[in-house]
Amino acid sequence: MNLQVFTHPACLAHDPGPGHAERPQRLDAVIDALRNGVDDLDWREAPRATRGQLLRAHDEALLAAVLETHPEGLVALDPDTVLSPRSAEAALRAAGAGVAAVDAVMSGEASAAFCAVRPPGHHATAHAAMGFCLFNNVAVAAMHALERHGLARVAIADFDVHHGNGTQAIFDAEPRVQYVSSHQVPLYPGTGHVHERGAGNVLNVPLPPGTGSRGFRVAWEDRLLPAIDGFAPQLLLVSAGFDAHWRDPLAQLQLDAGDFAWLTARLRRLAAAHAHGRLVSTLEGGYDLQALRECSVAHVRALVADPAG
Ligand SMILES: [Zn+2]
Repeated sequence: MNLQVFTHPACLAHDPGPGHAERPQRLDAVIDALRNGVDDLDWREAPRATRGQLLRAHDEALLAAVLETHPEGLVALDPDTVLSPRSAEAALRAAGAGVAAVDAVMSGEASAAFCAVRPPGHHATAHAAMGFCLFNNVAVAAMHALERHGLARVAIADFDVHHGNGTQAIFDAEPRVQYVSSHQVPLYPGTGHVHERGAGNVLNVPLPPGTGSRGFRVAWEDRLLPAIDGFAPQLLLVSAGFDAHWRDPLAQLQLDAGDFAWLTARLRRLAAAHAHGRLVSTLEGGYDLQALRECSVAHVRALVADPAG
């Protein structure tokens, strides 16, 4: 089992300012916890995504806003989403991590991969940065799998506590990509209702505030995992946010690290059944540092474990 972890120091230099929840210390915590908590990881430096790779998921206007603003201070792209002097490089590395990780699992060089990156991605739409996200890292990775590797079925499983509105919007008319998500409703960004089905390739299971382990596991066991199984993806991508943890300050679900380990093991099993084990997970949210440490270790340990176990 060779699990590659893609990251880059530039991802620590994106700084949305004092008091912002999406702070560099989040990624420091994840990297430190993984280095100390999981043996035998194959650490890799994330390359920059190219313009061509980004333009598969985003328009020129968004690329210009992120890459050509060159702010000297902080520039707000929306009320939550800030561009700092070194954000462009972080965004390029965060998106490039997913592209490189897809290449690694498609070539067989890695059996699975985790991208320890920020800024997160799943709120960014084709046209706009939003919700702490500049480029949609998982969408860029999925498009790379379709266009570079010629895959016909790529699934994205999103367990961040927020709905991945950007990912859904980018793919809701793209039947080669399935998007399935559990998330708290009501909560930012206000999307992710059951009736949002895309072209039949989208499945949302909203969870009410206060939902804990049992409700979360039933949602995945009964609804979301069977949908992925039915789609039979050739590659499984994961939007791994850990903000459904009970300690998280931005939401009100009640999960613990064991729930993320459980779901990760189930996703591994589906990847083994349909996709030769090919799974690429990318860090999304998670705003309590202790929870981030525990959950990222639980998640990556479950990725390393034998999926049959
Ligand atoms: Zn989130």
